[in-house]
Amino acid sequence: MTKRVIVIGSGIIGASIAWHLARAGAAVTVIEAGDAGGLATRNSWAWINASWGNPLSYFRLRVRSMEEWRRLDREVPGLAVNWCGGLIWDLPPVELDAFAREHAGWGYGIRRVGPDEMRRIEPGLKIVPDHAYHVAAEGAVEPAETARLLLSGARALGAEVLDHSHVRWLVEEANRVVGIMTDEGIIHADEVVVAAGGGSQQLLDSVGIAIRLTAPPGLLSHSKPAPELLRGLLMTPGLHVRQTREGRLVAGTDFAGADPMGKADELAHQLHGKVQALVAGAEQIALDFHTVGYRPTPADGFPAIGRPRNREGLYVAVTHSGVTLAPAIGLFASTELMDGRRDPLLDPFHPDRPALQ
Ligand SMILES: Cc1cc2nc3c(=O)[nH]c(=O)nc-3n(C[C@H](O)[C@H](O)[C@H](O)COP(=O)(O)OP(=O)(O)OC[C@H]3O[C@@H](n4cnc5c(N)ncnc54)[C@H](O)[C@@H]3O)c2cc1C
Repeated sequence: MTKRVIVIGSGIIGASIAWHLARAGAAVTVIEAGDAGGLATRNSWAWINASWGNPLSYFRLRVRSMEEWRRLDREVPGLAVNWCGGLIWDLPPVELDAFAREHAGWGYGIRRVGPDEMRRIEPGLKIVPDHAYHVAAEGAVEPAETARLLLSGARALGAEVLDHSHVRWLVEEANRVVGIMTDEGIIHADEVVVAAGGGSQQLLDSVGIAIRLTAPPGLLSHSKPAPELLRGLLMTPGLHVRQTREGRLVAGTDFAGADPMGKADELAHQLHGKVQALVAGAEQIALDFHTVGYRPTPADGFPAIGRPRNREGLYVAVTHSGVTLAPAIGLFASTELMDGRRDPLLDPFHPDRPALQ
């Protein structure tokens, strides 16, 4: 019998899970409280990477997801990942070298580049540091558009997408989640996936499941559209910047954006000033607007993906770095939901782990 699965949330995580489930033959309904395409997702810097600061198990999941992006890029009509590569010099030289040594040892395609090569890779740089690294395999997507393409792909495979439809609570019978209560009434399903980003906690509370989640803010400045000034991603001290397909220079203090701390306008102008100081031609390009997104983040900073124990019919998928991780999470969640097989790469990231209780 066809499995009926409800996916709550249409950000990059819900959209990827819905697409993979629909492809695996499930009858999928995506429920989204707002516009299709997510909340954190539309405010994301959207760098696809397995860069510094992560333990090996998390690095492996990220690298696998980078590979899965290449598969999705081929399989989903209209998807266009920008495999533009990233230049990185946002750590002091000693730490940068240590990170590069470790990650190269793990198989990451990171290599030292000197000033001449940097100028060849990124001709628009006004300041070229002595000490930097390049990762050709990194990339970026336009995040909300990508989530919507995954949803269109899921629709083409038979999924239903209901936007502007708020889920009030999960409906439970005898320790099994059997559906959801929306403003329009109950919808039943065999499985319910909570991929509701910052709204996940409230939904899980409705069936007595506590997973410690946080949602730190991140500000990004967006310039007016410009002709090509940057080819790839730049990770520099206090400034991460890339140029979108539309031509906007989008910048944060790091890939997750900066905490505006009540001074969003000021911070956006400061960031844009740094972009103008770094990128030739950006002096002529005005700041257009800024965004502040809230990053759904399990309390220990790592993904929470899987079925909470002692509860049937329920699957949780909440994570930071969701743009990087969406393809692997979509694939692994759909396999676990449809065949009961859990990918070993997910083992450290169970939602029931002690750090999240
Ligand atoms: C400033 C910033 C920079 C970032 N940079 C990067 C980066 O460079 N690389 C990277 O990999 N990641 C980055 N991230 C993180 C990444 O964007 C997120 O991890 C990812 O977008 C999360 O996607 P999601 O689908 O889980 O959540 P969301 O996009 O928030 O989607 C969840 C959806 O669920 C819906 N929802 C919630 N509650 C309900 C309900 N009760 N009923 C119905 N619908 C509901 C919401 O309306 C929302 O649309 C960044 C995030 C931010 C904010």
